[in-house]
Order: sequence, then C-alpha cells, then structure tokens
Amino acid sequence: MADSKSHLKYIFTTGGVVSSIGKGIVCASLGLLLESRGYKIAMMKMDPYINVDPGTMNPFEHGEVFVTDDGAETDLDLGHYQRFTHAKLSRRSNTTTGAIYNTVIQKEREGAYLGKTVQVIPHITDEIKNRIRALTVDEDDVDIAIVEIGGTVGDIESLPFLEALRQFRLDIGPENCCFIHVTLVPYIEAANELKTKPTQHSVRALRDIGIQPNIIVCRTGKNKLGREQRQKVALFCDVPENAIINAQDISPIYAIPLNFKKQDLDVTVLSILGLEAREGNLSEWTSMVDRLVSATEEVRIAAIGKYTGHSDAYKSINEAFVHAGIANNCKVKYEWIDSEQFEPGKEKPEDILQGYHGILIGPGFGTRGIEGKINVAKFARENHIPYFGICLGMQVAMIEIARNCLGLKDAHTTEVNPQTPHPIISLLTEQKGISSKGGTMRLGAYLCELQPDTFAYKAYGQQSIYERHRHRYEFNNAYRENFEKQANGVISGVHRRKLMDMEEELVEIIELKPDIHPWFCACQFHPEFKSTPMKPQPLFCNFIQAALEYKKCNEQH
Ligand code: GLN
Repeated sequence: MADSKSHLKYIFTTGGVVSSIGKGIVCASLGLLLESRGYKIAMMKMDPYINVDPGTMNPFEHGEVFVTDDGAETDLDLGHYQRFTHAKLSRRSNTTTGAIYNTVIQKEREGAYLGKTVQVIPHITDEIKNRIRALTVDEDDVDIAIVEIGGTVGDIESLPFLEALRQFRLDIGPENCCFIHVTLVPYIEAANELKTKPTQHSVRALRDIGIQPNIIVCRTGKNKLGREQRQKVALFCDVPENAIINAQDISPIYAIPLNFKKQDLDVTVLSILGLEAREGNLSEWTSMVDRLVSATEEVRIAAIGKYTGHSDAYKSINEAFVHAGIANNCKVKYEWIDSEQFEPGKEKPEDILQGYHGILIGPGFGTRGIEGKINVAKFARENHIPYFGICLGMQVAMIEIARNCLGLKDAHTTEVNPQTPHPIISLLTEQKGISSKGGTMRLGAYLCELQPDTFAYKAYGQQSIYERHRHRYEFNNAYRENFEKQANGVISGVHRRKLMDMEEELVEIIELKPDIHPWFCACQFHPEFKSTPMKPQPLFCNFIQAALEYKKCNEQH
C-alpha cells in the first residue's frame, strides 16, 4: 500500500549489542541537524515492553516519565527530542507493545477482524505501521519522521517492530527510508583494541530479519574509531565507509550534534533519502554550546529526592539546571541527595546541606522519605536559602509551613496520612473514586494565571503561562487564607476552572514574601518538562540567579 503522503521520508533507528546506548540522543541530534537545514521533522519512540505506557513504572526501573502537553506519560527519550528539536510531541510520539496489543485486543472484542484468527503478523505488525503513519496525520508539512525503536536487536520482544519496519520499507519504497543502527564497539584493555565483532553480529541479526542498515553509528566510549575498524565494520556489514559514524563520549551532550555534523551524518542521511543537502545554519546552537562550556562561575545546588540511585530518574530537572546555568553564565553543580537520610532521628539538614547555594525538592510519590523532605524544606525556609519545590516539593513546603507557621501540628498530605486532621494537601473531588493507576492523574498542560509583583511573574514576564502537570493531590483551598495571613505566603499562580457552575481556583505556584525570604517558590506543575538549552525555563533561571546572589552574599560575610 502506498503511503498517502508521498513526500514523507522516514528514518528508523535501532540499537545493537547493549541497551542504553544513547539512540535517543543520536535521533535528537540528527533531528537538530536536519532542522538546521530547513527540514520539518516529526519524532517517535516505540518501546517493546508490555506496560501500556511508562506511567506506572518505578523511576528506579525506567528513569523519569516525561509528560507531553496533551498529558501522555512517555519515555524519557522524548525529553531529548524536545530539548534538541522543535518536533511536535504528543501521545502519538510514543507507543509500546502494551498499547499496541491493547488496541488490537479491543478491536478483536468489537469483532473488527470479522472472524479471522488474530496474529502477530499481520495484525500486530499492521497496528505498529498504523501508529507510524498516525504520527504525522495532523502535520501535513512534515518532511522527515524519525522513529526510534527501543531495546536491542536480538530481543524477542522487538521482533514484531522490526518485522513491521521491514514491511513498511516495502510499503513506502526503499528510497524513502533510511535505517540507522547504533551499536557498541567496546574497548578491550588486554588487547588494547576496539572490537567490532559484537557490531558485526548485531548487524547480522538485523539482516536475518530482512533489514540492511544504511548507516552504523558506533559508540566507542572514550576511544576513537580508527580507520582500520571503520573499514572492518564497512566490509562486514555492507555499509559504505562514509556511513560508519563514530560516536565517542562527548560532554556536554549538547555538543554531540556538532560531532555528527563534522562527520556529515546529516548529509549522508539526506542523500540516502534523495533529499537535497540545503545550506545549514547551526550558529545559534554552537554559540549556546560555547557559552555552556566557557562559563567559569559555579553554583552548588542540593537536589533532594528519593530515586537518587538511578541517574535518569530526574533527567529533565538535571537538564533544566544546565539550561538555567547557560542563562546565568554559570555552571550549576547539582547533587542529588536521598531524602531518607533527613528523616527524624537521622542526619540533620544543617550538617549535610551547608555549602549549597540553593535547595530543590523534586517530585515523588508515596511515604518513604517524606518526613526528610519536610525537614529540609524547614531548614531552607528558616535559613533563608533559595528554595525551589517541584510538585511534591511544593506539597512538602506547604505541610512544613502548616506545621511550623500555622500551628497545625499534624498537618499532612492525605497521600501519606488519609486520617490527618489538617489535610493541607488532599485529593480533588474528581480523583476520589479512581482506583486505576494508569493515566488517571492530573496530566498535561494547564493554563496558569500569574499574580503581578511576585517572583513567578518576574520570572515569566507575562500573565498567562502553560505548564505540564503529573500529580493526583493538590493544595487544599480551605487553608489558603491562613497561609496568606499567618505565614506571609503568596499564591502567585492559579488555574481557574468552572466546576458545576462554581468558579474554582487550583493553586499552582506558592511563594513567601520577599521581606521574609530571598527566594522561596514552589510549583504544583513540572516546569522541567518545557526547559530547553535554547529556551531555559524561567523559574529555574530565577532560582539559579537567586542561588548566585546567595553565594555572593555568603562569600562576602
Ligand atoms: N505524589 C504527589 C501527587 O500525586 C506528587 C506527585 C509529583 O511530585 N509528581 O500529587
């Protein structure tokens, strides 16, 4: 079947040898390079696991869950796509085996297969192809769609995806497709050599399925792929030498596209797709990287969380710190610290958190570590250290203020203590009957109206903003007046909505007045999901600015 959009080209990226090889950043970098040459791109990730989406997975398992404007809980690779490119991301941009089977099984129950036996080929593979096509249904002007397949070639669970791609290539014509295989070329110390054999095996596995890669991106760690190894990969994998791309470890990650550009990755892709290598312009990106690399001033941030054992659990927050550093001409040295160690009877915040210029408490779920977070929020408030709370970080700040400034000793969130006499954080009415965990939180972008003369307003410089949410619990408006009157609190951002003909305000940003704290600000939404190196997130920027000022004052004293 010919594709209805005859101009549309596809790039499919697979991974070989090991997982976590950085396919997401390869795709995002390529997306940036293609955009810099004036092509409009779309991006998609297909994950072969059976969860319908990563929303129900523990961050220790899977790292951060990235949320799109339309409220999809997606793979963290979409965060890379957003930070590097302008691709429009939505729930269409991420799918999983679970989601695909869900649709097929529902269709079967509706009788849509007219009595046929429902099978992996063609029904599952057709649904995979439908989703690839659906990516661009609302965007007529997309030139190139980049589709990343999660997992590793050779895994049982990725087989239906690879089979679908093999078919898709025939459906739309091989001249409209480019296959990129990203593999590991490990360094063996005893032999003092980079070894290409695993890559050869991985490409052989791909070819067994009927896919011949056009380009191979070799991850070589700290080492550089030599001429000899390049020739070997080219020969054994049947790929021209100029299409063997070396991806050494490069820091910062925003310099990775520049390395690919040097090797003409984008030019090679465009020639495979039969597209013109238009004049490119990467100057703004390059000067952003220069600013990032050349900053000398440092600011130290303590980031408090409970998923600190997984380096990607707070990926977007880490990147938003880097972006805010670019905006403030400094390097943000953030350290994630486990909140559990500040639980009552354990470490005191003052013993561990001296020497930091700002404190962030990040998002989280459940009971573990929450009292530690409340103790840290108290420490930041009482010691006038710039404080930034995100989602749970706002909720614990409100609990702390309720307990210690409003005299409500047992104040809590009903997430942790459903019986609390002072539920300063509680469930919205519509959340009360919900027991299903998948996709049922307040998710996605909501309008937030800012109050003039506040930290938040100053940061954004405008009244109406949209930020993305992912939480079930909210500030309880019954305590709003107490917070404003007794704690010098400010509600600086609200979402207004109509509920059964009544106007209701959901509290989205809270602050303390500047006369009692230099910068204490917390939001119910997740500002990190919209931060990019070219457009750093305003609250992060102002937080880092406040931390720099705090550092300056403290160094003088
Ligand atoms: N557990 C809290 C809630 O569901 C906070 C969630 C978060 O930090 N993302 O409301």
